[in-house]
Amino acid sequence: MSTYTVLNPATEEPVAEVEHADLAATDAAIERAHAAFPAWRDLAPGERARVLRRFADLVDAHGEELAGLEVANAGHTLGNARWEAGNVRDVLHYYAAAPERLFGRQIPVAGGIDVTFHEPLGVVGLIVPWNFPMPIAAWGFAPALAAGNTVVLKPAELTPLTALRLAELGRQAGLADGVLTVVPGDGPVVGARLVSHPLVRKVCFTGSSAVGQTVLAGCAEQLKRCTLELGGKSANVIFADADVAKAAAAAPASVFDNAGQDCCARSRILVQRAVYEEFLGRLESAVHAFRVEDPRRDSAEMGPLISARQHARVQGYLDGAEVAFRGAAPTGPGFWMPPAVVLPGSVQDRVWREEVFGPVVAVLPFDDEADAVAMANDSDYGLSGSIFTADLGRALRVSRAVQAGNLSVNSHSSVRYWTPFGGYKRSGLGRELGPDAPNAFTEEKNVFLSQD
Ligand code: NAD
Repeated sequence: MSTYTVLNPATEEPVAEVEHADLAATDAAIERAHAAFPAWRDLAPGERARVLRRFADLVDAHGEELAGLEVANAGHTLGNARWEAGNVRDVLHYYAAAPERLFGRQIPVAGGIDVTFHEPLGVVGLIVPWNFPMPIAAWGFAPALAAGNTVVLKPAELTPLTALRLAELGRQAGLADGVLTVVPGDGPVVGARLVSHPLVRKVCFTGSSAVGQTVLAGCAEQLKRCTLELGGKSANVIFADADVAKAAAAAPASVFDNAGQDCCARSRILVQRAVYEEFLGRLESAVHAFRVEDPRRDSAEMGPLISARQHARVQGYLDGAEVAFRGAAPTGPGFWMPPAVVLPGSVQDRVWREEVFGPVVAVLPFDDEADAVAMANDSDYGLSGSIFTADLGRALRVSRAVQAGNLSVNSHSSVRYWTPFGGYKRSGLGRELGPDAPNAFTEEKNVFLSQD
């Protein structure tokens, strides 16, 4: 065991000391989760549902406390952090309706009855990043628990506080010891052990594509199930027939929300040439009006970056780039960075191709629909994207043609827990959320009962 000092990214002051688990403590947590599995699996569906509803109610009752923790730990704006705590509550309520609805099927077979069952896997390992610590944890644990699995969750090193508090609330709601365990620690120690331990039957990983690849390779050794939610470089495509004022007003929040540390950030803006100059002019006003300030303020639209390391990484994309204009940000302590709009020289520029994961957006013009689709798809990633147009046919054609898992027309819809979420290409493997998520935490068993 070692300890880790959690910092407030808005002030650089210490917030808490958190113990990091070593291999032995990780193994012990996995074994406790394994021991807790039969009783949780065998709990009557209605009772499992009741515990999850109680958990949701406790999250609701502690919403302000959880939001405050995330503001201090991750620098999220108060408005966002409140939304995130509410999202955990809603995700728990939504999947609390699943235990009584884990239906199998009756399939016609001669000579008897054929039925299918959805049986839980056992211990599920969740590996969570620092950018949205609460929602991403809940998107894994709520459907996994609803389907009858037990969960070991590893939060990111930088942001363990809300996950630890959520596990306490789960215990208070009636989850037995070992049903939901949070194990803070280093990725290569605790995270890697969730991948390599044979009692963990599935790993859900959210994080960078590079680490995701090593997680998938580790899971392959044991033919372990694996879901990956990885990076993105999403396109925001604005056609000349769109409401350009609306598109420009909406663009800053679609990429600078959470200081750009969002896998769905629309960090590439593609604008049809006829409205390119008009769009840039309107975008400049919108970026200047975007409020980057103390995240505890109700009015804040963006807070600091998560760490000095992330700040330096993002700054690396701006050095030598053609910055068209920037917003404002506080100075002094904290990992602050004003939002930046960059005009790349070509589609080969790093800032156009790589995930920056900071408040930086790149803008390029395009000529026609075919050009827009080709540019949007010229990316290793395929997580989300937006299309602004007044032409319904074009909206349909382009949203079907763009290779990404989550598209939004004339809006930048955020992730909705009742719709599926996940990526194409290097953005991931598998889907989370939506009505089918609990099934992804089960084995489908087929049983034939002979009538003779
Ligand atoms: P990261 O890959 O560095 O870390 C993610 C998690 O993996 C952390 O908990 C970390 O401790 C753990 N980890 C690190 N090394 C590991 C190893 N060898 N084995 C197992 N686990 C290990 O990513 P990050 O910097 O925390 O998060 C940012 C990335 O996450 C971005 O690329 C972003 O796009 C992505 N992300 C994707 C989604 C999505 O849903 N697609 C959502 C949020 C973030």
